Amino acid sequence: MSQIQPQPGIMEIKLYQGGQSHVEGVSDVVKLSSNENPFGPSDKAKEAFARSVHSLHRYPPTDHAALRAAIGEVHGVDPARVICGVGSDEIITFLCQAYAGTGDEVIHTEHGFSMYRISALAAGATPVEVPERERVVDVDAILAACTERTRLVFIANPANPTGTMIGGNEVARLADGLPPQAILVLDGAYAEFVEGYDGGAALVEARENVVMTRTFSKLYGLGGLRIGWGYGPQQVIDVLNRVRGPFNLSQTQLETAEAAVRDTAYAEKCRAENTRLRAWLSEALAEAGVPSDVSCANFILARFASQAEAESCDDWLKSKGIIVRRVAGYGLPNCLRITVGDEASCRRVAHAVREFKGQRT
Ligand SMILES: *Cc1c(COP(=O)(O)O)cnc(C)c1O
Repeated sequence: MSQIQPQPGIMEIKLYQGGQSHVEGVSDVVKLSSNENPFGPSDKAKEAFARSVHSLHRYPPTDHAALRAAIGEVHGVDPARVICGVGSDEIITFLCQAYAGTGDEVIHTEHGFSMYRISALAAGATPVEVPERERVVDVDAILAACTERTRLVFIANPANPTGTMIGGNEVARLADGLPPQAILVLDGAYAEFVEGYDGGAALVEARENVVMTRTFSKLYGLGGLRIGWGYGPQQVIDVLNRVRGPFNLSQTQLETAEAAVRDTAYAEKCRAENTRLRAWLSEALAEAGVPSDVSCANFILARFASQAEAESCDDWLKSKGIIVRRVAGYGLPNCLRITVGDEASCRRVAHAVREFKGQRT
């Protein structure tokens, strides 16, 4: 064996599987596999993106002050304790890099987002998977799994791919029950889809051991541009800023994100449309004999009778040009995750699932 070898843990990382976007031989494809906003970003964000062409020869600011100020105003958080990154993925990476190394444990839940495990392994730490209860994060199971080596605990609330959520009291109980050296990370990628929910910002302010991550990739429709942010205790943010590259975000990313977050009317419109179409789609699927948990996000985890049925429905949908997400890799082989698209896409997927189920009865 060659003496040139990567750090321990790296070869255990399975490459992230992105949502598929093409079907061979089908042209009119609707992509419902990556929880993207079907309406795209706001016009104001697009204008800011176009304007940024004039400053491409300049290095961007390293402190992200204007974007942090905008986030502070719109989300009611202290800009001094906000850190911006290349997607919330980068904030997750910083947390693992700064707080978890060889011999340390990073907890994630059974159906949790795969980036937690990937980032933990990349940092040389040991990922620890904790069971959920009926596809819902189980606070008691997490607390029982904590040891003196636990450094980070990741939960998404609402969660992906389940779409379920736990209440504020449960989250606070989790924060309060952790060992003193551990940080609770609340991944709020889907927080904006829950009306009136702060994503855990108030808990960040009330505790010393809670960090929240947020993204521009979902409600704001900017997944292609890669912008996210984190909110935490000053001490933690100061640590993360030391591992952050000074020019991690481009001028284009900064200006576009600032315009996007300030366009609260557009965000509200997208949230309302998602809520309306999500209810319609989950009901249409249930009527076709495909149940789902109540989703708090912009997708529905459709449950089938078996893995075979889920896979043949996926094949059927694909043949109709509809791409959804298989989630066997998340321990949910009977399920397909379907993003709530625009109205035409919702009708198209509901119709196709109805046809699929009709054929089989
Ligand atoms: C989509 C998603 C993110 C967002 O990642 P970005 O790097 O910000 O695009 C984070 N967490 C979860 C659970 C997600 O589903």
